[in-house]
Amino acid sequence: MHLTFHGATREVTGSFHTITTDHDRIVLDCGLFQGRRKEAETKNRVLPIDPQVITNIILSHAHLDHSGRIPMVTKEGFNGRIFCTRATAQACEYLLRDSAKIQEGDASYLNYKTARNFLAKLKSGGSQKKLSNGDMADIKRLLKAGNHRLNSEKITELLEEHQLQTIDPLYSMLEAEESLSYFNGVPYNHTATIGRDLTCTFYDAGHILGSAMAVVRKEVNGQSKNVMFTGDIGRFDKPIIQDPTLEFADEHREIDLLIMESTYGDRLHDPVKDMKPMLQKVLTETFDRGGSVMIPAFAYGRTQEIIYYLHELYLAGDVPRVPVYVDSPLATNITHVFGEHPETYDEDTHQTFLENGLNPFHFEHLKFVQTVEESMALNRDTRSHIVLAGSGMCEGGRILHHLRHKIHDERNTLLIVGYMGRNTFGRLIQDKAAAYEEAGRQGQAPAVRFYNKEYPLKAKVVTLGGFSAHGDKNELTRVLKESNLDVKRIALVHGEEDQSIAFKSHLEQQGFEVTVPYQGQTIYVP
Ligand SMILES: [Zn+2]
Repeated sequence: MHLTFHGATREVTGSFHTITTDHDRIVLDCGLFQGRRKEAETKNRVLPIDPQVITNIILSHAHLDHSGRIPMVTKEGFNGRIFCTRATAQACEYLLRDSAKIQEGDASYLNYKTARNFLAKLKSGGSQKKLSNGDMADIKRLLKAGNHRLNSEKITELLEEHQLQTIDPLYSMLEAEESLSYFNGVPYNHTATIGRDLTCTFYDAGHILGSAMAVVRKEVNGQSKNVMFTGDIGRFDKPIIQDPTLEFADEHREIDLLIMESTYGDRLHDPVKDMKPMLQKVLTETFDRGGSVMIPAFAYGRTQEIIYYLHELYLAGDVPRVPVYVDSPLATNITHVFGEHPETYDEDTHQTFLENGLNPFHFEHLKFVQTVEESMALNRDTRSHIVLAGSGMCEGGRILHHLRHKIHDERNTLLIVGYMGRNTFGRLIQDKAAAYEEAGRQGQAPAVRFYNKEYPLKAKVVTLGGFSAHGDKNELTRVLKESNLDVKRIALVHGEEDQSIAFKSHLEQQGFEVTVPYQGQTIYVP
């Protein structure tokens, strides 16, 4: 068996690896590279392997940096099945459609920019001179249909007429929908045949609903080899889902090669048990000031976790019961997926909710905002409330409209519960607020600019880091040391270089043999 690493090598996105045997090629994850638009677009365009030679795909979980290139593979002649857990298959129905929408939007925007620049150049007679506002407005009027919509027909016509480069989306909505028929959801701890003499078994990874560690086993004439792929590993004692598995079946205990994530290989998180009291404190303080709490959150995982904690706090009467709004159609759909998979819940969720006839994701004060009109009305609502909205890093989406109406008011709180990537708007707010806080909130509040306007950043910005869906250094180590696994060799993926390399030395001190592969590197499993 050979293992080749094609993505999420010395970085965190684009998870994609292949297992090659004499008879089969199995792909582990098929994820999108994310980050700066242009750079990610270039990396995503070319698949590392011809889809026609792939036997089957194993998908660790539904996050797009693991699943987002599946429609590219299925539209180009892939003829196998995509094996994953049932919850992952169901979540992908929403996430891949949402991804297609984003791909189509990105491509349209790039084409609009090409057309706009072309017309501007034409108007200025080829000179570098800046166009007057009036001329620019004329061009925009021609290429747009209303304030926020592009006139795609006009743009396509222009690009074709002048033979300008047109960008196609990585895949369309239709292609994303077609890819869904390739999914094959299997339960945890169930062994499926995925190739000649090859099986795959999923174990809970504790990262998000449906996330799995996969053991791929090759067995010929009584001789066997096990390769295990962790996907993303979660934290222990988190609400809703089970902890990462520590007990593996006897035939899966000896691992010849472990492909392991290392996102936080050199970091420690706040303890999980402190999360609820910390959340309670932030809420109470904000409502005492008469303010509202805005939470930018990813639709899959974080939103439901916060809903769960809020439900517990509301049941216990530990915070004022103000209305809670989930203002994201995707998060609303994903919350339904959570509701449909009680078989994946942990013991606490069963005891606190199910055994009392309660649905953790449904309570009197929780409302799912559906239409844009409802969302706009909520923007203007000045009574104390909690709103969860995307995007998670404040790069777009409805959260920006809430910020527009609330960021200038010092009674309000922006509560950050997720990682804000470098160069994102969320990180910018976080950094500016931290500097202002450090200066004792003296002098003029820092300004942030979005939607062509500047706003004073007077709202309080609080970060609670422990909500991470990834295990920290100690939790990752725990999976190795406290499980019944006997691991011969480890390849660390899915981590920024400094995190993976620090984790490598940490593991080597514990006696493990560890590699941090480069993109394209192959490891032979004898
Ligand atoms: Zn993930």
